Formats: sequence, C-alpha cells, structure tokens
Amino acid sequence: MSEPILEVEHLRKSYNKDLVVLKDISFSIKKGEVVVIVGPSGCGKSTFLRCLNRLEEIDSGTMKLQGVSYEKEKKKVHEFREKVGMVFQSYDLFPNMTIMKNLLLAPLKVQKRKKEEVMKEAEQLLDRVGLLDKKDAYPRQLSGGQKQRVAIVRALLMHPEVLLLDEITAALDPEMVREVLQVVLELAKSGMTMVIVTHEMEFARAVADRVIFIDRGEIVEENTPDKFFTNPDSDRAKQFLNSFHYETVHE
Ligand code: ADP
Ligand code: MG
Repeated sequence: MSEPILEVEHLRKSYNKDLVVLKDISFSIKKGEVVVIVGPSGCGKSTFLRCLNRLEEIDSGTMKLQGVSYEKEKKKVHEFREKVGMVFQSYDLFPNMTIMKNLLLAPLKVQKRKKEEVMKEAEQLLDRVGLLDKKDAYPRQLSGGQKQRVAIVRALLMHPEVLLLDEITAALDPEMVREVLQVVLELAKSGMTMVIVTHEMEFARAVADRVIFIDRGEIVEENTPDKFFTNPDSDRAKQFLNSFHYETVHE
C-alpha cells in the first residue's frame, strides 16, 4: 500500500444544472485497500461510483487513475472502464446467452483476448465462486445469488485495477446475501482493491479497511470500521446507524 491507485479531488456533480448531488468530494484509495461507503438513500453513493468509472461526466474536480488524470485521457473512456470494474444491483446478464457466453463477451470483443485463455480463466473463476457446473446454463436457470456471483466473475475477467460494488446484494433474498458477500470477503482477502457501497452493516464492518459516510453529497465522516460502527464521531452518522437499527455498542 503506497501510491493511491484512484484519486479524486473536489469532485462536484450535478444533474440538470440545479440538483447538486456531490458537493466537494475528495477521496483516494490505495492498492489492496477496501473502502466501504455508507449513507442514506439518495445521498449520492451510486452517482459517486458512476463518476469513478466515468459513466457520468463530472462538473468539476480532478480524478486520477494510477497517477494519470482523467482529463488527459478524455478519449480513453473505455480503457478506464476496463481498469475500474463495476458490479451493480441488477446483474444485467444477457438472457439468451449461456453463462460462459456472457462471460466471454467483453474479454473477446473489447479486449480482443484469445478465447481459450479467457475460457480457462472463466472456468477457474467460476470454480472459485462455486459455479463451474453452471457454465452452460442460461441466466434464468440460476438464482439471484448465483447470477450476482456470475456478475462478479464477469467483472474480474476484465482484470480491473479497482472494483466498484454498488449494493450488489440489495435485490437478493436474504438467504442468498451471504453467499455473495462471502465471495466479496474472499476477494478482499486476496488483495482486490474495492470501493463497496452496501447497507449490510455487519459485512461492511468485517470487510472494510476504512469507512466513508456520505450524507447529502458530502463526506461527513471517514473512520476505521470499528470506530465508525461502535462510536462514530459525527451526530449524523449516529443518527444514520440508529435509523438502521444497527446497535452502536460501546465495547
Ligand atoms: P444513492 O445511491 O446514495 O441512493 P444516487 O446517487 O442514486 O444516491 O442519487 C443521488 C441523487 O441524485 C438523488 O436525489 C437522485 O434522485 C439523483 N439522481 C440520480 N441519478 C440521476 C439522474 N440520472 N438524473 C437526475 N437525477 C439523478
Ligand atoms: Mg444507490
């Protein structure tokens, strides 16, 4: 952990000119670090992640990936997106393609990699998330939790430098949440750099190296997970955690 891999300064983002969603966000993450972002619904978490992988244009501020400013590389949006992978709440697998076909699509079309090589890696990754036997199945034959694990594999196959996860268990039935979070915990252990937005507080505490609390488009608090979840510094974070029925226990 040395140089920041992804760095943002004074980011401002609005929609339709008058709705300022992110006010003055400065943020950085180092290689191998796991940062969890929490905050009330509508505070700008998804917008922030979307800015990080350039799905959104920002109003002002600077962003750097591996020391290279986004501004300088305006035309290379696709390269950035490959390096900053993202997994969403909805898995967005193509229903008419098998799992393997879904996985091969971007590495072959976008990255022009060799089919045998990608297939081999896809099989290894599917095996790692317990889904090798589903490679020839269609998405409809999989549960939500299985589809989300496939979506994670799809993102990993692109060899991202950073992975952004936006509430990836929010649409899942409770019994499937754990199997997906387990995969993310293992990714964290293996050294994957991740920015994770989640409402799963126990998981957040377990996986995070650092927690960032956003409220109304601003970073209100940045803390260690233990401190944040037991005794946060800001009143707004306290209120947020209480509204979540998460007990802030003093140890
Ligand atoms: P969160 O992920 O924290 O729930 P979002 O980033 O999705 O918050 O949304 C932040 C604010 O921006 C909300 O008020 C939302 O309505 C608004 N917003 C999000 N996306 C758009 C969009 N594409 N156009 C206009 N407003 C948007
Ligand atoms: Mg969101």
